Amino acid sequence: MSDYIVKNAKVYTQDSSRPWAEAFAVRDGRFECVGTNEEVEAWAAAQDADGRTDSGNQSASVMDLGGKFVMPGIIDSHTHIAMSAILGGDDDDESIPMYNCKSRDEVLQKLKEMVRMHPHRLYYAMFYGQIEIMAGDPITRDDLDKIVRFRPVILMENECHSAILNSAALRYFGVRNDTEDIAPGLSRYDRDAKGRLTGMITEMTLVPILSIEKISEKQLRFGITKLLSYLISRGVTTIFDAGNMTDEDLIFKTFKAMDEEGKIPVRMFMCHMLWHPNMVGEAIDKLKEYKKKYSTPNIRFETMKMMYDGTQRIHTACMVEPYADTGTCGGTLISEEELLVFMRKLNHERIDFHLHTVGEAAMRKVMNCVEKLREEGESGGDPFRITVTCAHDEVLRPEDVDRFRELGIVANFTPSWNGGNCGSEPENMQKLLGPERGLRTLQSRTVFDTGAVVSFSSDEVELHNLDRWSPFWGMEVGMTRQDPDFGGVVYDEQADGTMAERKDGSTAPVYPPEDEKMTLEQLIEGYTINGAKQLGIDDRVGSIETGKEADFLVLSENLFETDPYRLHDVVPERVYIKGKLQSLL
Ligand SMILES: [Zn+2]
Repeated sequence: MSDYIVKNAKVYTQDSSRPWAEAFAVRDGRFECVGTNEEVEAWAAAQDADGRTDSGNQSASVMDLGGKFVMPGIIDSHTHIAMSAILGGDDDDESIPMYNCKSRDEVLQKLKEMVRMHPHRLYYAMFYGQIEIMAGDPITRDDLDKIVRFRPVILMENECHSAILNSAALRYFGVRNDTEDIAPGLSRYDRDAKGRLTGMITEMTLVPILSIEKISEKQLRFGITKLLSYLISRGVTTIFDAGNMTDEDLIFKTFKAMDEEGKIPVRMFMCHMLWHPNMVGEAIDKLKEYKKKYSTPNIRFETMKMMYDGTQRIHTACMVEPYADTGTCGGTLISEEELLVFMRKLNHERIDFHLHTVGEAAMRKVMNCVEKLREEGESGGDPFRITVTCAHDEVLRPEDVDRFRELGIVANFTPSWNGGNCGSEPENMQKLLGPERGLRTLQSRTVFDTGAVVSFSSDEVELHNLDRWSPFWGMEVGMTRQDPDFGGVVYDEQADGTMAERKDGSTAPVYPPEDEKMTLEQLIEGYTINGAKQLGIDDRVGSIETGKEADFLVLSENLFETDPYRLHDVVPERVYIKGKLQSLL
C-alpha cells in the first residue's frame, strides 16, 4: 500500500513534463502517481481493489494540505559543514568581532582591547572585514608587534583567504624571508621591496593556522548538529560538502559515526580537497581510501575538489586581463598542462571534479581541459563521462560564457553573494577590475540563459548567525541583487497612520549589473534538479516525479506569490526526506 497520499496541494514539481500537480502518493520512501487529486484518488482506489494493502482492508492515510505549496527538497551544492564547525569554534567564543571596523586604527584598537581583556592567552586570533579600508595603508606585522610582541597574533580577513601575522606568529609557523610561495600569484607570503615579510599571507599559506588549535570530535559534532538542524529546517535535504583544508580523517570518521547513530538524515556528498600542488599525485588514492573507510548509505565520496585559484579582493583569483590596480593576474594552483593530465586520470577513474574558480583565467583553463578531453574521447580515447563543476565563477570573459553549455560544465553560484558583500561596492570593484569589468561580475543569469546547468549553494562558514545559510535568503538575493543585511532601517507609514520599521531589503543598493537578476523559476531549478545533476543523482532526486525519492517541503505560502523581499524569512512548515517527516528544531 501507499504509506500516505498528499492531496489538495499546489505542487511545484520541477518536472518539465508536468510543472504543477495537486497530489501524489508516497510508498517506501518514493513518489508514486504524481497528478491531479482525481488521478491520485483513482490510483489509490485501484491499489486497494487489487488488495495491495497490508491488512487487506486498510487504505493509505491521506494528508489534505488545503492548498499549501509543495516543492522538491533543496540541494545545497557547495557548502562547508565541518570547516564551519572548526572555524566557528566553541560556543563560548570570546573574540571581539571586527567586521564593523571602519579604519585600520579601529582594528588595532580592538586588538588592544582584546589583549587587555584576555592578558593570558597563548595567542590572539581574530577576524576583520573590509580589507579595502586598509587599501594603500595596510596593517603590517610591525603595527601588530607594537601591540603584542612575544605571542602570535593572527588577524584573519573575514573571507578567510588572507591574514596578517605579527612577527611572533610568522616565527611560530616557521615562515622566513626566504620561504618559498606555495603557488606564485596565489598562495604567497607578501614581502616589501627589500624582500622582508610584511606579515600578509594569502590563500593556502593559511592552512597551518587553521590547525593552531586542535579540533575535538565534540566540537565537530556540536557544529555539524547545529548546521544540519538549521539547514534541514530551511528545506535542505541533500548537501555537497565542498571540502576541508585540515583534519579530513577526523571529520569523515565523525560523520560516519554520527550516521551510524542516525544523526545524519540528509544525503551528504563529501570530497577530498586539494590545496597544495604536491597533493595532486596521491589524490586519487586518497579519495578511494576515504570512500572505502568512511562511506555509509548517507555519506558518499564521488568528488575531487581543487582550490584552483583565489579571490578577487586580494588579487589571487586568476585573470586573463590584469587587475586594474596592481597589473598582476593572480595565479592557479597548477598549470593548465598539469590540470589536463590530472583531469584525464579523474575521467579514467570516473571521479567527478569540483573546482574553486573565481577568476576568468581559472575558468578558461578548466574549459580548455574539458574541451581537449572531449576531443580525445571522440577520437578513440576514454569517452568523457565525469561531471566537472566550476564554483563561484565571479569574473567571466564574455567569449567564455557559452562554453559551460557547449562543454557540459556545471556552473555553481552562491546567490547570496549577488547583492555584493562588504567592500565590494561598485566603486571598489571598478578600482580592482577596471571601469567596465568591475560592473560585470557574478553573471549567474547570463550563464543560466545560455542553457547551461547552473546549480546554487550557500558556501558559508559563519556559525554564529545562520541566516545566510538559508536557500530562501539565496533566492531573495538571486532575484533582487539586494542584500537584506545592507538595507538599513526605513520606516513606512501604515494604514492607521503609525510608522513601522520596514524589514525588507528593498532599500539596499542593487548590485550591478541589474539585468543579472534571476527569476524564481531559475532559482528553484538551480536549488533542486540542477544540484542533483551536479551530483549525478538527478535520476533519483531533485524533482517530484514517480519513482524518485520523496524529498519534499510543505510551505504555508506559495513562493510565486511571496513578496521577493520577504523570501529570506521563509521557513518550510514541514520537511520530508525519503518520505519521512523530519523533526525540526
Ligand atoms: Zn567553498
